Amino acid sequence: MVARILDGKSIAADLRAEVAAAVAEMKAASGAVPGLAVVLVGDDPASRSYVTGKEKACAAAGIYSREIALPATATRAEILAIVRALNADDAIDGILVQLPLPDSSIERDVIEAIDPAKDVDGFHPTNVGRMVLGLPSFVPCTPAGVVEILRRSGTPLAGATVVVIGRSQIVGRPLSILLSQKGVDATVTLCHTRTKDLAHFTREADVVVVAAGRPHTLTGDMVKPGAVVIDVGVNRVPDASKASGYRLVGDADFADVAEKAAAITPVPGGVGPMTIAMLLRNVVEAARRRRGAGA
Ligand code: NAP
Repeated sequence: MVARILDGKSIAADLRAEVAAAVAEMKAASGAVPGLAVVLVGDDPASRSYVTGKEKACAAAGIYSREIALPATATRAEILAIVRALNADDAIDGILVQLPLPDSSIERDVIEAIDPAKDVDGFHPTNVGRMVLGLPSFVPCTPAGVVEILRRSGTPLAGATVVVIGRSQIVGRPLSILLSQKGVDATVTLCHTRTKDLAHFTREADVVVVAAGRPHTLTGDMVKPGAVVIDVGVNRVPDASKASGYRLVGDADFADVAEKAAAITPVPGGVGPMTIAMLLRNVVEAARRRRGAGA
């Protein structure tokens, strides 16, 4: 079997067009323009490139974006003061603090300082708690993007057996909650480094989502024929043939897994573009809620 490629770029383009239409409608109805503030601390090149990607996507959708760049030496108090100012800023509907921060020990405090109504990353405990309870909330963008790619590709989820590899707070754990919610109705197994015999679980799964951050975590022999595989991983591996000296690979052995699976997301061009599209959707949703449904 040669797997169908689930083209995240094209699905995300559809979503972004929907967001742009919603923004245009909002502008026409009330003059309101949704606004996103992105706080970038330090000069990590990967973070810089993620932030640029998000700002470009905002501009293309008609969303106002403002970047607040701080030096790596910015203190906890300085970052918290910026977040509080953005909480009070009426032009800003969504606040995103690009993670990781140079000092990861203050991340929790910074996330908790964000007004939950502007927490478009969905990391604030209020939004996490509401998501667990099945109440309206901002859902973290990558797990939301995975669910959306599964839905839009017509993958049946109700009653399906889904294995999620990775239990991080930003990807695996929230995804396991979303997939097991009433209305989605998958039967979910959440695996991690202490899972005994990972392949035993993945071979039974109708859908495998791998978010481990390690190349070769999922190989062809670990996948049931006809399964759907979503590869969240983004790993840089050395490649002398590239000008950059590296190329991006996922957590699954793409060619090997594609021989067995019915469908698979590529890296790049799979989950990554969906994450940005879901962020835009969250910003528009935040603007609607803050400015009133008709805004
Ligand atoms: P993380 O915080 O490092 O968590 C990785 C998780 O995977 C942990 O729960 C770890 O288990 C588990 N794990 C690692 N190796 C494993 C193995 N061999 N078998 C079973 N479980 C294993 O990573 P993350 O932030 O969730 O990110 C995961 C990957 O997704 C990374 O490559 C990241 O770059 C990528 N990512 C992509 C996007 C996107 O938009 N495309 C967004 C976010 C993240 P333990 O808990 O036991 O350590």
